[in-house]
Formats: sequence, structure tokens, C-alpha cells
Amino acid sequence: MAQKGTLLVTGGAGYIGSHTVRHLLELGEKIVVLDSLVFGHREALPMDRVSFIEGDMSDTALIEALFTEHQPEAVLHFAAFAYVGESVTDPLKYYRNNLAAPLILLEAMQRHGCKRFIFSSTCATYGNPVYVPMNEDHPQAPVNPYGASKWMLERVLRDCDHAWGLKCVFLRYFNASGCDPSGEIGEDHDPETHLIPRILMAATGEIPEISVFGTDYPTPDGTCIRDYIHVCDLASAHAKALGYLRDGGETTPVNLGTGRGFSVKEILQTAESVTGKNIPVTYGPRRAGDPPELICDPAKAKAVLGWEAQYKDPRSHLQHAWQWMTSPRKGRYGQ
Ligand code: UDP
Repeated sequence: MAQKGTLLVTGGAGYIGSHTVRHLLELGEKIVVLDSLVFGHREALPMDRVSFIEGDMSDTALIEALFTEHQPEAVLHFAAFAYVGESVTDPLKYYRNNLAAPLILLEAMQRHGCKRFIFSSTCATYGNPVYVPMNEDHPQAPVNPYGASKWMLERVLRDCDHAWGLKCVFLRYFNASGCDPSGEIGEDHDPETHLIPRILMAATGEIPEISVFGTDYPTPDGTCIRDYIHVCDLASAHAKALGYLRDGGETTPVNLGTGRGFSVKEILQTAESVTGKNIPVTYGPRRAGDPPELICDPAKAKAVLGWEAQYKDPRSHLQHAWQWMTSPRKGRYGQ
């Protein structure tokens, strides 16, 4: 195995980034985090154990200074905007941040001979499923600018591999959820749009109710089915992807999910059981752009990375997220 060097983690103060940083530190990795703190949280990082740089990856001078000082061996790239609806109304914001800004980073990597890149991609690059479970050969036809921005960056990365040997793993996440079981770090988005945190916000009374988006889907109970992947499982997959690249692995996409789907109603019932509360629910119309069912085929992750989800039951996701919501931080940083 190649010698371990410093890792640059962009967006390391965000939800998935901070959980991955925590895991990599446990494995003894040396880490530099670059985060603009637009969505990330300083408190999500152990500042005494990482080098932290507040800034934007499109800041050429900052990136050049970072590479000169730290000479990172690999980049784990999380920094991105991720609100699908906003990407439809403000596409240029997404193409600028998710596609154009990383080009500055990639130029610095090329100049400094840094040739390992782990990319937070998404199942949104596939668009509407043609079949489930979805493997990596599923056609990629993103249906919104968020998915398109990630898909286009995958293309850019492949071209960089062809031209100068950049080796990448595109980790295509399904529905990230849960929190570190310690309750010390968690999910804190503003605005929060995701199902599990919103259900728990309804359970604490932070929002009056949870609205279920659509009950007439062609699924057994009429609500959408998703593959919920625990954020700590995502973190461990990044470590495995790093090992794969250090061992000389070729550029490749890998889906990250459990292979099991759960409906919105099933998640709601589990949340009531975990919290012991009656959660106020309204049943509303469908949300535009939601496919009925998204389920991952995780076979390649196992075969290529030797990775498999540990938290396959969303009950554990809800338990950990509830612990975070009811911790002294009450599911929020900075208070
Ligand atoms: N959902 C819902 N109410 C909400 C938020 C989400 O019914 O307040 C549904 C949504 O329609 C989808 C599922 O929950 O079927 C997961 O949505 P989320 O936004 O968490 O993730 P996405 O699948 O959009 O990435």
C-alpha cells in the first residue's frame, strides 16, 4: 500500500463530510479541511485534530497556498450545494458551485501531482429509474440541475484521468440519514428538507407537522420508497475508497446504499416507535420530480471496495438521529 499522506477534505464541516472526518481521524489519517462555512459548522469538527481552512475552493490563491503548504496526497470532495428544488429555480448557482468551482481545485491537483479524488456523487445522476435496484450501469439521465452538475463533474474527472492520470471513485449516494451514535455530531441543515429530520422536528414540536408528499404512488402503501444509507456507513465507504485508490485502483463509480427500500409511511411508523410520540401528519400532494422508488444495488461496493452497510435497518438511523435531536445541542450547532 502507498504511504499515507495528508488528506484534503472539502466541505468537511458539513453533514457527511464531518462524519467522514471523524472516521478518518479514528483510522489515524492526517486531515486538512477546507470549508466555506456557508452550510458547514465549525462545531462539527474537532479543531484540535484537523488543520482547518475557512474559504472557498474557487479561490485560486487560497487553493494554491493550501497545496503548497500541505501537499495533499488525496482529495475527498464533499463541498457542494444539494437542494434539488433550488437547483431548478437557480441552476447557475449549482453549476457555478458544483461544477465550475471544483475546476480550480482540479487545476491545483494537476499542478501539484495529486492524483486521487473521492467524489461525493449521487444517485440523482441516474434520473428516473428504469429498473430497481439500480446498479452502476443504469443509464445516467439526470432530471434536475443538481444531478446534472454532479454527473457533469464525473465526466470532467474521467477526462482528467484520461489526460493526466487522475484516479477517482465516484461515490453515488442514495438517501443519507442518521447521525454518529455518540450524539455529538449530526445533521443540521437550514432549511431542512429531508424526510427523517423533518419527521423528528415534528416529533419535538419544532415544526407543527410532517407533510407526506403523495399517497398515490404505485407502491404497496402508496408512498415513495427510498434506500436510506446511514451517514456512518457513508463515512466508512470513503475510507475504503481511499484504500482502493492507494492500492492503485482505476477510476470507477460505486453506488452506496443498503439494497433495501422503505416507504415514507414505514419511516413514519418507525419514528413513532423510536420516539414514543404521536407525530402529527398531513397527507399532501406529490412533490415534483420524486420517483416512486429508488433502491441501490450495492453489489459493486462489496466486490470492489469490500464495503457493506452495517446499519441496514432505518430504525437505527432514527434512533441515532433522535439522540442528536434530544442531545444538549438539540439537533443544532451554535447554541
Ligand atoms: N418526503 C415527504 N415529506 C417531507 C420530506 C420528504 O413526504 O417533508 C418524502 C419525499 O417525497 C421522498 C422521501 O420522503 O419520497 C425522501 O425525501 P428526501 O427529501 O428526504 O430525500 P430525496 O429522496 O429527495 O433525496
